[in-house]
Amino acid sequence: MKKVPHRLYLTEDQMPKQWYNLRADMPEQPDPMLNPATLKPATEEDLYPVFCKELAHQEMDAETRYIDIPEEIQEMYKIYRPSPLIRAYNLEKALGTPAKIYYKFEGNNTSGSHKLNSAIAQAYYAKKQGLTCLTTETGAGQWGTALAEACAYFGLDLTVFMVKVSYNQKPFRKAVMQTFDANVIASPSDTTNAGRQILAADPNTGGSLGCAISEAIEKAMTTEGCRYVLGSVLNQVLLHQSIIGLESKIAMEMLDEYPDIIIGCAGGGSNLGGLIAPFMQDKLTGKADPRIVAVEPASCPSLTRGKYVYDFCDTGKVTPLARMYTLGSGFMPSPNHAGGLRYHGMSPILSKLYHDGYMEAVSVEQTKVFEAATYFAKYETILPAPESAHAIRAAIDEAIRCKETGETKTILFGLTGTGYFDMTAYQAYHDGQMNDYIPSDADLQKGFDGLPKVD
Ligand SMILES: *Cc1c(COP(=O)(O)O)cnc(C)c1O
Repeated sequence: MKKVPHRLYLTEDQMPKQWYNLRADMPEQPDPMLNPATLKPATEEDLYPVFCKELAHQEMDAETRYIDIPEEIQEMYKIYRPSPLIRAYNLEKALGTPAKIYYKFEGNNTSGSHKLNSAIAQAYYAKKQGLTCLTTETGAGQWGTALAEACAYFGLDLTVFMVKVSYNQKPFRKAVMQTFDANVIASPSDTTNAGRQILAADPNTGGSLGCAISEAIEKAMTTEGCRYVLGSVLNQVLLHQSIIGLESKIAMEMLDEYPDIIIGCAGGGSNLGGLIAPFMQDKLTGKADPRIVAVEPASCPSLTRGKYVYDFCDTGKVTPLARMYTLGSGFMPSPNHAGGLRYHGMSPILSKLYHDGYMEAVSVEQTKVFEAATYFAKYETILPAPESAHAIRAAIDEAIRCKETGETKTILFGLTGTGYFDMTAYQAYHDGQMNDYIPSDADLQKGFDGLPKVD
């Protein structure tokens, strides 16, 4: 039998030159986005004030199966891609499992996560359109960092609204973004109407992604030559992230392997959507039937406990409405939750696939996540991001199940990034200070009560 190397790097030439658009193979499409003013399906032109044109086009394009990755984007990808596919021999041995565990590691760049894959694309198209400025929100800080890198590369100004709890928990994230010349503001802030309103309602709020999105959109719409960009949830972001899955599939083919189970953590769904894209294509077209598992935090359980309805993508209710699994745009995750993945909704593409039974979802508690993170770090020598550790938790649980049943399953999971800026959370875990907040049904009901009445 062929001995599989510990790390398989594709060559530059093997890096995919096209992204894959999963919608082209979906038997049923996600419901259309709605214009918030008219509640009619949004058109591409409706999106132009917020998104640059090419990205608005990608957002709406459900037909083009493969989309060329522009040369300039490929050139910047090559600084840190192809990313390695790693066989977790040490982890397998430590667990004593007959399962084969592979992970695709996206943390080998300064942003420390997969977010750079879409940040580069979004900055490139903005620059090409002649825009000079971008705004965005960031939760844990990885997206802000990735976009700051991309904007510095393409020469665009960037303002990042960073969720206040993270801003306070991760001061060095801000310093990294400033290294790339980004202007970083804690959200909610008094620099926007949306921020001032949220602060007036609750001066002590730790903020939320939805709220930071409202501020970033307002800033973009009131600034000349400026657009808003979002690091997850959107169709265009899943498209850009498909490079993760495409590379994984090529690498696994070289090893004569095919995953039985594919696992990814899910915040807004971009890494998971990207990782699974070509495997889901096989599933949708009847070529293969892998199990696909989304892993989310028990404290922000949009797939496992949310509702599949139209909702706003932001707290300020200015974005188009999307039909997705959501906890309500007013849902505020507990400030005790350290593990990222705090977004109230989920990618409409993944929501639809989950709703139609093509995917599973599990939720995990954060002490279990950090237990898996520290275990993994010891055997694989990578300090994982807490977000990524959700996928590690589920992969370990599957591998343990294989040990009990004797099945030799092949597991592939997405290791989305590194956790060097999450040491406050790691420290809390080591000190036994971390707790597992799980919202009650009554807590969730508050978020559901604020859902727009559309259906
Ligand atoms: C942002 C992020 C996630 C979650 O976002 P998705 O859009 O759901 O992929 C996961 N892991 C890391 C390291 C991240 O930075």
